[in-house]
Amino acid sequence: MFEKDLQNLDRQHLLRRLYVATSPTGPTIEMDGRRVILLASNNYLGLATHPSVVEAALGAVREFGMGAGASRLVSGTLRPHMTLETELARFKGTESALTFVAGYLANLSVIPALVGADGLILADRLCHASLIDGCRLSRAKLRVFRHADANHLETVLKRRPAKQRVLIVTDALFSMDGDVAPLSDIATLAERYGAQVFIDDAHGTGIMGPTGRGSLEHCGVESRFPFHMGTLSKAIGCAGGYIVGDSSLIQYLVNTSRTFIYTTAPPPAVAAAATAALRVIEEEPDRRARLWKNRDHLFAGLHRIGFHTTATVSPIIPILIGDADRAQAMSRQLLEHGVYAPAIRPPTVPASTSRIRVTVTADHTTNQLNETLAVFEHVGQSLKLV
Ligand code: PMP
Repeated sequence: MFEKDLQNLDRQHLLRRLYVATSPTGPTIEMDGRRVILLASNNYLGLATHPSVVEAALGAVREFGMGAGASRLVSGTLRPHMTLETELARFKGTESALTFVAGYLANLSVIPALVGADGLILADRLCHASLIDGCRLSRAKLRVFRHADANHLETVLKRRPAKQRVLIVTDALFSMDGDVAPLSDIATLAERYGAQVFIDDAHGTGIMGPTGRGSLEHCGVESRFPFHMGTLSKAIGCAGGYIVGDSSLIQYLVNTSRTFIYTTAPPPAVAAAATAALRVIEEEPDRRARLWKNRDHLFAGLHRIGFHTTATVSPIIPILIGDADRAQAMSRQLLEHGVYAPAIRPPTVPASTSRIRVTVTADHTTNQLNETLAVFEHVGQSLKLV
């Protein structure tokens, strides 16, 4: 039925396929019966397989079973959900927190709760798909400002109709570019023009800032944003999304957020595991140190070979290739040589900016990173990219 559509995608080198792993997500992974170095997961701190995280999940399964049985407002709120929300608020230094089944679902309903059809949203051009979908669902007018460009944001803000409610929407750490939004400038503009800001720190939570509290800590702006969202699915190594902010916002969301109200609560084991992961982030700061050491080693090595990256400042190191077919060919060759790093193509990134998105973790060894660099050099030369 959809063969023609699929053939079309294939002709444009935009067809996607599922790679099936037969081992846990770690610095290496088993795929098609072969062990390869994994440079594709957002499990930045290795917490998805951390013994304390796994044990916490197993303990909660024994105590509470698997499913929560109902939505949070019916009978699905179990002790692990409340413990996680208390711990998240403490970790982030806010009054309250609310968790969702996925970060995507948090964005889908929190944005419409903040602004409606009579409002205006100003979104960074490279916002994550879940933010864009949340903006669309709000039915507010949507304007886009140039990526990470506070001057352009101000130009757009100046054109806003008087008295209209304005929400600025941005990723904090951009998932496909690895750079950080100009959060301090955005805070200043929001204060100057009376706008609210919705920040998505899915990728920064756990890894950015001196204590891993995220990109707001990294930019020294925690006190300037009363709320923001993040995920439990990346550095925290589990699954789910969250909003942190003051109690009135959280109570308002409990009453209005459709993806919170009308879905079954997350499995209690996932909440217990995420709580354990937060504790590991605080108790094992050396993980973050290893992550950044690995990141700097790989970043410097890729530049030494001659690759061009985005203006990344994080463990997300996108290598710019351009055409989708070249990016796909590179990813395929890397895999043949034992390294899995995916080609990211439109519509995930703008046309002609296809890239190899490399992500590094705390658990990669120096030997694995050196092997990676040797493979990248070989493949880069064979495709005449360096
Ligand atoms: N925001 C950003 C910036 C993301 O990269 C992602 C996941 N790719 C999400 C939100 C969605 O989070 P989750 O995977 O927890 O649904």
